[in-house]
Amino acid sequence: MLTDAATRVYAEKLDENDPLNAYASLFYKEKQTVYVDGNSLGLLSTLAEEATLAILESWKRYGIDGWTEGEHPWFTLSESLASQMAPLLGAHRDEVMVTGSTTSNLHQLLATFYKPDSTRTKIVADELNFPTDLYALDAQVRLHQLDPQDHLQLIKSRDGHTLAEEDILAAMTDDVAVVILSSVLYRSGQVLDMARLTKAAHERGILIGFDLCHSIGSLPHSLSKDDVDFAFWCSYKHLNGGPGSVGGLFVNRRFHSERPGLAGWFGSDKEKQFDLATSFTKAAGAGAYQMGTPHVLSLAPLIGSLELFSEVGIENIRRKSLQLTDYMLTLLSEFPETRQFKVMNPRSHRERGAHVYLEHPEAARICKALKAQHVIPDFRAPSGIRMAPVALYNSFVDVWACVRTLAWIMREETYKNFDNERGVIA
Ligand SMILES: *Cc1c(COP(=O)(O)O)cnc(C)c1O
Repeated sequence: MLTDAATRVYAEKLDENDPLNAYASLFYKEKQTVYVDGNSLGLLSTLAEEATLAILESWKRYGIDGWTEGEHPWFTLSESLASQMAPLLGAHRDEVMVTGSTTSNLHQLLATFYKPDSTRTKIVADELNFPTDLYALDAQVRLHQLDPQDHLQLIKSRDGHTLAEEDILAAMTDDVAVVILSSVLYRSGQVLDMARLTKAAHERGILIGFDLCHSIGSLPHSLSKDDVDFAFWCSYKHLNGGPGSVGGLFVNRRFHSERPGLAGWFGSDKEKQFDLATSFTKAAGAGAYQMGTPHVLSLAPLIGSLELFSEVGIENIRRKSLQLTDYMLTLLSEFPETRQFKVMNPRSHRERGAHVYLEHPEAARICKALKAQHVIPDFRAPSGIRMAPVALYNSFVDVWACVRTLAWIMREETYKNFDNERGVIA
């Protein structure tokens, strides 16, 4: 017997009582489509669209003078966006810069902070991290003429989905120079305790950096208070900055006298940059880690998108996000057809990120069948389905429709009309 929770009326009630409900109308969504893939690519808001048009307008109108004229002068755009972004990170404004991509920022930060010496040579990461991070770590170890077999250590997962804190702590041995972890694991959505891990690393004389791709814009951070050494992220997932939008980095004030490993003229002190001197005078804060000319058109949407985050508040976003995933988990156990999915994300609020992660051997074609019914999930090979109901634009009715459609597909076995192979992008 289904309970009331499984009815559309119940979901509608939840929407009526949701203080963030109205924000969904600011996003472009296809009618009839339930988009639960905002942790891969967030949707376009009217605010982001308007900001992008404003930047195009300043190019039209001012040409080269757009660097200093117009509503959002390009020369200081990265800096002003960093001020907008800092509250989402719990960071001092001068510790954040909007620049680069996750991968390029990781390279920059390792080029700066990974300095193997006669005792500490290793980088510790985990086998569940997103491949690009691991490729970058492998390459950085090789740049120091070291063998990744011996100097890049990946913490193993006991269950294939999550990391045990004891295993992370055990890997922090006295030959480790740097630890790189995710704040939220990209598959299972497990939230790691950044404060605790940072403290443990520092007690052992190890530097620690975090990849925030799945936590920026979905949950609050306190990087300064937690004394994290450095962090990096993208802005096209929960921040809704658009495909390939500019990422960001955090460098703790303690290191602001360090020279960036990879220097470039946009890392200059802004007053000095156009002296065009042959020697580099770096910016005082995290701005020093910029390299070349900023990708202005890929910064533009963030101007509008970040406004929305400061208006709504990240605490409110996190609260609703947990309510949405709570409801999704309830519904998955309500419908008899969806009980066959293995829920592999952590259940507790403390450890649960912003998406639900399911495992099923037929996942690839179940995702295709969902798309055919206008539900957009995210397939992760070989057998994972991520569903991210996003607080700013998904409703409780969306969650209901998503799980009900999944139940229907399993009951009618419509997934059998598709092959169980992944597409090029999955
Ligand atoms: C999305 C994501 C990336 C993407 O890196 P890009 O350089 O932006 O392509 C990297 N790491 C993690 C953990 C991610 O979730």
